[in-house]
Amino acid sequence: GLGPYDDQNIFARILRGEIPCRRAYEDEHALAFHDIAPQAPAHVLVIPKGAYVSFADFSATASEAEIAGFFRAVGRVARELGLEQPGYRLLANTGVHGGQEVPHFHVHLFGGAGLGPMLD
Ligand code: 5GP
Repeated sequence: GLGPYDDQNIFARILRGEIPCRRAYEDEHALAFHDIAPQAPAHVLVIPKGAYVSFADFSATASEAEIAGFFRAVGRVARELGLEQPGYRLLANTGVHGGQEVPHFHVHLFGGAGLGPMLD
């Protein structure tokens, strides 16, 4: 795993407003912002407001209200950005083998053009 939650990670600092981001959506449970190094025409990161290291941590320890609120927000972001047609991709890198770099759980939302096959 990635160890205990580090409250100095970059997304924790974005949540506290210490580092700017290009905000796409925010509510009680989630913040969405554009990835600084986009890998698709639309590339947004959606993060829960709670301190969860990874999907493994979030899925096991977040409350049902946080989990429901977070995933509801992910869908809302996609809809509000106009990505539902013709569609988009969700991805959550988890842990070392998953290639997760930032140790605050996040979902990548890719869209805006043909994405090609998932694995290359
Ligand atoms: P991971 O590999 O952890 O799933 O992906 C982390 C993502 O965060 C990468 O796509 C990276 O470009 C993005 N990222 C890293 N630092 C920042 C930042 O300071 N601001 C924004 N908006 N995105 C960041």
